[in-house]
Amino acid sequence: MKTFNELKLAQELIKFQTIKTEDKGIMKFLSKKLSSLGFKCQIIKSKGTGAKPALNLYAKFGKSKPNINYLGHTDVVANLNNWEFPPFKALVKKGYLYGRGSQDMKGSVACWISAVSDFIKNKKFKGSISIIITADEETTGHGCPAVMKYLERKKEKIDFSIVGEPSSNKSVGDEIRIGRRGSMNATVTVYGKSGHSAFYGTYINPCTTLAKIISKLKSVPLDKGTKYMPPSNLEFTKMNVDNISENVVPQSASAKFNVRFNSSYKSTSLKKKLSKIINAVAKKENCKTKIEYKVSGEAFYTVPNKEIYMVKKVVKKVTGNNAKLNCRGGTSDSRFLGSIPRLELGLRNNTIHMVNERTSISDLKKLTKIYKNILHNYFT
Ligand SMILES: [Zn+2]
Repeated sequence: MKTFNELKLAQELIKFQTIKTEDKGIMKFLSKKLSSLGFKCQIIKSKGTGAKPALNLYAKFGKSKPNINYLGHTDVVANLNNWEFPPFKALVKKGYLYGRGSQDMKGSVACWISAVSDFIKNKKFKGSISIIITADEETTGHGCPAVMKYLERKKEKIDFSIVGEPSSNKSVGDEIRIGRRGSMNATVTVYGKSGHSAFYGTYINPCTTLAKIISKLKSVPLDKGTKYMPPSNLEFTKMNVDNISENVVPQSASAKFNVRFNSSYKSTSLKKKLSKIINAVAKKENCKTKIEYKVSGEAFYTVPNKEIYMVKKVVKKVTGNNAKLNCRGGTSDSRFLGSIPRLELGLRNNTIHMVNERTSISDLKKLTKIYKNILHNYFT
């Protein structure tokens, strides 16, 4: 049986130009590699960004319990101009692998597959290893839910999942994510009464009310934070008044905000709280409001369990890092894993989505070693 070198595999993966939900043959390539190790591979389609469907992969080695899983994505963001080296050439220069997706997150996918190839070649074990690779983590996020639905239909159970997103900050393994904050967007429209600005008393200015609403929302802390998550935070990102006259008080004014919230809220309880604050101010000013919310994801986390502590120990052994368990960062496919216990551990995130994205070769080696040790400890 073969083993795969993490650097070579990462280079091969970077060469597929998988922007948006373009497949370019990458899932077939991965299926072939994994089949050669003894994995059973299943392509699962989901709605793509273009006319073609997005192709996602579920691969499994072994049949018995427990099932340790790896979740990753092969799609990459654009931002492809002004690179020092071509973004899809996967060149190695002075100890660094350059390329779009090297950190986020084809590098990690390569490290996991390399670790698995080495592990199953050298060890008999009871249990199974599964891999989910999605094609739209950076865009629409239909892939992971489609795979979850497939697993439900097949009555497949995952016992623990490692999400390979670039969680590390200054060095590999200095941080491990055990959850993510929730994210929600809202548009608030305030309706007053328009009129000539010279005739005070005949109009109700929605701009003034909107300003008071913004001020009120920013002046009350939403909470104090939880053990693993920082205080929830609300930021206004857009304000808009459609008005072409300078001496007319407008009829309405609107603003948009984004809230990153911790696990002390569900989006429903947070909506209730925010609407109450907004409507109280509006009522005082004799204005009506319309509030539209869009939830991008609920807050979630895994209470540190024996697997999470095992991974923390492995990281310490391989890197010397005393990993911080936290819930920083944006959303990821991890939000679709439901109640599966999980953590996120991958490469550094210092160049993700940027021009000249790169990872050091030694980081690839370290992460592969961490993943290998995780497999070893999980099955003994
Ligand atoms: Zn990512």
